[in-house]
Amino acid sequence: MLGMLKRAPSVVIGSDGGITIAGSVVIDGHSHVSQRVRVVTHIHSDHTVNLHESIKGSYRIAATQLTLSWLQVFGYSVASPVSLEAGESIRLGDLRLRFLRSVHIPGTVQVLVETDDGNRVLYSSDFKKPGDETPVEEADVLVIDAVYGRPSYVREFDDYIEHLLVDLVKQLLAGGGVRIYGYYGKVNEVMSLLRQGGVDAPFVLAPKVYMMTKKAESLGFRFGDYLLAGSRESREVIRGRWYVYLDHSSRATPGSRDVSTLILSGWEFRSPIRRVSGRTWHVAFSDHSDFRGLVRYVSGVRPRKLYVVKARSNGAEEFASYVAKNLGIQEVLVV
Ligand SMILES: [Zn+2]
Repeated sequence: MLGMLKRAPSVVIGSDGGITIAGSVVIDGHSHVSQRVRVVTHIHSDHTVNLHESIKGSYRIAATQLTLSWLQVFGYSVASPVSLEAGESIRLGDLRLRFLRSVHIPGTVQVLVETDDGNRVLYSSDFKKPGDETPVEEADVLVIDAVYGRPSYVREFDDYIEHLLVDLVKQLLAGGGVRIYGYYGKVNEVMSLLRQGGVDAPFVLAPKVYMMTKKAESLGFRFGDYLLAGSRESREVIRGRWYVYLDHSSRATPGSRDVSTLILSGWEFRSPIRRVSGRTWHVAFSDHSDFRGLVRYVSGVRPRKLYVVKARSNGAEEFASYVAKNLGIQEVLVV
């Protein structure tokens, strides 16, 4: 390839955050593409934007098996799924589309699009623990969402927050039930963490979380004993005051005499656990890298060109100017 101009596939970011690569495939948004393939990196709503439109347009929907089955829970009926796991790839015309592992909610992947002569475009999607459990691959062009894009968005306790959360739940269970509220998918991650940490109390799950858990279990995930909230068994368990209830953060209710409430949020930078009232705490458990993790990821990818997607970023401009100045990337665009 000596002397040959290295040309990466074209990248266009739509106003819905969709990433169109080489006019062939679109990721986490909708656009008209020649291969009629839409990738869904995971089920969070900012990554399933305009998915109904892609489905209506008879696009093939490429996602992991877990993401495809969780999409059903969210009311999407995908007629032409392309099931692909992290590490696997498919051919799309003269491109190869590969999924890479990502630590975020279960089922999440990064997406690598590669031409035959080795030019690579990488979309990070959402991730945490870069270079550790989330692999960082080199690419010519990187597309990233700077979710915590401002230099002040740093959580010093990210490395040990999981232990703190498990210990807190154990401690609170001694005095009654515990309710945990977080985003969809994050609560499933927390369920696994609690089991690994030795929490044996039965889980009582709100209906959607219950359905997602059933789907995940059918694909081999294990969560121990869990019950559907409102069922006779769940009412008995709640009377026994030894259980962990899990639901989406939009339905969080404060703790009371019989039950403690934990609200999971990455937007806590001062302390890992903060008591907001009597028996209600905010826990700084995030599924996203903080500012430093984002910078570490970009410096590992070493792109010639970086796109920061405004639609899914907080502090996109600040992040762009920081990495342009400190990492020496030739071209940084906020789109
Ligand atoms: Zn997400």
